[in-house]
Amino acid sequence: MKRPLQVILVLSALIWCERLPTVDAAQRLRVVTTLSTYADLAKTIGGDRVEVSYVASPKFNPHFIEPKPSDVLKVQRAELFIHSGLDLELWRGPLLDAASHRDVMPGGSRELDLSRGVQLLEIPDHPVSRAEGDMHLYGNPHYWMSPDNGKIIAQEIADKLSDIDPPHAPAYERNLQQLVQQLDAKIPEWQQRLAPFKGQEVIGYHNEWPYLMQFTGLRMEHFLEPKPGIPPTPKQLGWVTDYLRQRHAQAVVQASYQSREAADQVARRAGAKTVILCQNVGELPACGNYMAMLEYDTAQLSQALTP
Ligand SMILES: [Zn+2]
Repeated sequence: MKRPLQVILVLSALIWCERLPTVDAAQRLRVVTTLSTYADLAKTIGGDRVEVSYVASPKFNPHFIEPKPSDVLKVQRAELFIHSGLDLELWRGPLLDAASHRDVMPGGSRELDLSRGVQLLEIPDHPVSRAEGDMHLYGNPHYWMSPDNGKIIAQEIADKLSDIDPPHAPAYERNLQQLVQQLDAKIPEWQQRLAPFKGQEVIGYHNEWPYLMQFTGLRMEHFLEPKPGIPPTPKQLGWVTDYLRQRHAQAVVQASYQSREAADQVARRAGAKTVILCQNVGELPACGNYMAMLEYDTAQLSQALTP
């Protein structure tokens, strides 16, 4: 009879230990985000008051995810749904339709469209249509790549959590301030790191870095994709190779989920380097959270541009 009693005691201790430091799961706000980056920020601000999950794996292009039935279920149960707005998540509409959860639909009380708070770049000055293969129809939607926007996004998340859950607003505000302080401490360092290369031009694969370029003072005006979302063509690669040679540009920048074949080919022919950056938290092991991602990306750029 000795052994069962020991087992019960050990189990009880385990259950007790597990429960002690955390909030009961039933009391946590269920937050669902489209991107892993928003999930990381929501977790930082929400702490143990929130249970956060995301839909788009950072290992794939966030424009073209195929949500799973389990994602539909998650959105149905979400008490807050956080997304990019615009046309970043082309799969968001069908996902919301399938979940049919009125509160998290556009304009609902439990929906947070992060694009509303940031100053968008590249808003088209002429009519563009998806029928011609265009994306980024409402401005460039990759805005979380600038830490200045990261602070705005974090503030929006904190405000929304406080609206939904007023008793814990002071905790959300405290966590927000802590994150903002950390970002404020690192921002000058990241900018300093790239200051020697201010104005230098780099080439991108997809047009997903304008906010990072603005932040770092680098320039990126040409891409391996002939249009955002259209895969590189031999004609475009030939043109970009010549352009890189003429301008003596040093780097072709892409996210890890794009095949690096085209970038490597162009870089080799033009005597430049391929630079792999994280577009979202968790895309590479070194980009485990928002701060780490920016640390990694600025370090990679600096390293590639150093002669
Ligand atoms: Zn894009």
